[in-house]
Amino acid sequence: MLRIILLGPPGAGKGTQAHKIIEQYRIPQISTGDILRHETKIQSDIGIKAQEYMSKGALVPDDVIIAIVKKRLLEKDCVNGFLLDGFPRTVGQAEALRDANIDIDAVILLEVNDDEIVERLGGRLVHPASGRVYHIHTHPPKSAGIDDVTGEPLIQRQDDKEETIRQRLRVYHSQTSPLIQFYQSKLIEVDGEKSTSEVFADIQAGIQKIV
Ligand code: ADP
Ligand code: AMP
Repeated sequence: MLRIILLGPPGAGKGTQAHKIIEQYRIPQISTGDILRHETKIQSDIGIKAQEYMSKGALVPDDVIIAIVKKRLLEKDCVNGFLLDGFPRTVGQAEALRDANIDIDAVILLEVNDDEIVERLGGRLVHPASGRVYHIHTHPPKSAGIDDVTGEPLIQRQDDKEETIRQRLRVYHSQTSPLIQFYQSKLIEVDGEKSTSEVFADIQAGIQKIV
């Protein structure tokens, strides 16, 4: 059983590391951002509502997000654990997990400074269907604008504009960073500014200590 939370500012590398973690530990990735973008794409009621907040770089209200995650965690593939990527993002969301008796084994905090975040997100390219991420300079796809695996086009996220990135960082520092204190006893701190493979090695070393 391995129940992990990936915590860190937008652009810290949560999605990048999540793909490696789920492959290694055979647990599902639950990315609330990916779920919301899917809902937006199919224009469901939740998606239409969420879009307003996401495009401004604001957080979607706790009640909406908590309901989505609780439902997802009841699915069969979560019996041996799960990786929460981008949830919780407020103390209210963390309290909702605790109050639902959903235990967490470890919280991995990826630490990256704000200037590096702006640089990373400004150059991020995404394959929406899989959640695979690239960077225009530091991790380019083999063929410009095309996903390596499927050959489908890559996109730049609407909220990866500098002004919205700065807003998302403000939201992180005010609403999400209090979770570092909340999860103090379960925290595995990782320097997210190292290379992707070094970060993954540090994450594995951290998980090794708790299993
Ligand atoms: P998050 O899911 O935390 O928002 P991503 O995994 O999408 O972050 O990464 C944001 C951007 O930073 C992407 O363009 C990705 O390629 C790049 N990136 C991720 N990890 C690293 C790293 N260790 N060093 C440099 N760039 C990285
Ligand atoms: P992400 O893909 O994790 O960068 O999330 C993109 C956007 O989705 C965020 O800027 C929020 O608007 C919304 N979002 C994702 N996860 C949450 C969450 N746990 N709580 C509130 N809003 C969220």
